[in-house]
Amino acid sequence: MRLNIAIDGPAGAGKSTIAKAVASALGILYLDTGAMYRAMALKALRNGICPSDPASVLPLLEGTEIFARNIEGTQHTYLDGEDVSEGIRTQEVAQAASDISAIPAVRMKLAEAQRNVARENDVVMDGREIGSYVLPETPYKFYITASLPTRAGRRLRELQDRGQGEGRSLELIEQEIAQRDYNDAHRAFAPLVQLPEAILVDTTDLTIPEAVEAVLRHLPAGKGGN
Ligand code: C5P
Repeated sequence: MRLNIAIDGPAGAGKSTIAKAVASALGILYLDTGAMYRAMALKALRNGICPSDPASVLPLLEGTEIFARNIEGTQHTYLDGEDVSEGIRTQEVAQAASDISAIPAVRMKLAEAQRNVARENDVVMDGREIGSYVLPETPYKFYITASLPTRAGRRLRELQDRGQGEGRSLELIEQEIAQRDYNDAHRAFAPLVQLPEAILVDTTDLTIPEAVEAVLRHLPAGKGGN
């Protein structure tokens, strides 16, 4: 039986930072599923296709290959063989990912690839519907959140660190994140949900090590021990 850990929550809550640290503490794989939606969105944008229009996205989806590979502890995301790990980290791609991820066929294809990873590996996966849709059988489900101003502040710092913060105000980022959360929570198919059985970790007032500990204490010790 594989150790599969599902970490869900809204944008900017610290899911990927925490999921990465948990995976490293347990000595197991980490999979950032958002990067896969971002890669699909990047392909649509590059082809001048509206990411919320299923009729245009579906033909594109058929010939698309998206996979993630872990190289020295860092996830690299490939779109049709090209490493797009850097190119997917823009606000434009994030918004397009939110639109394209509402198309059921996109989700079915990427969820299948994610389930294959979980079948073959002990893995920590972060996303929006990992516990409810991708890995519903796993007993290890977490919902990580933080207040909207906290999440927006973190996103702004992330953008600034990448040199993409110019002209971006906290208010604007708050609006973008709130819009993305709304889309994610209100799509008809496999929306973002806070499952009653998922362990809630609110990171608003937690340091990263505290948040990681709040997750680890609910998990069995992994290959690397904890
Ligand atoms: O987590 P990240 O911000 O990279 O995700 C980008 C977008 O991809 C999210 O806003 C969400 O719409 C979508 N997504 C999703 N399901 C996932 C992961 C991401 O719908 N499992």
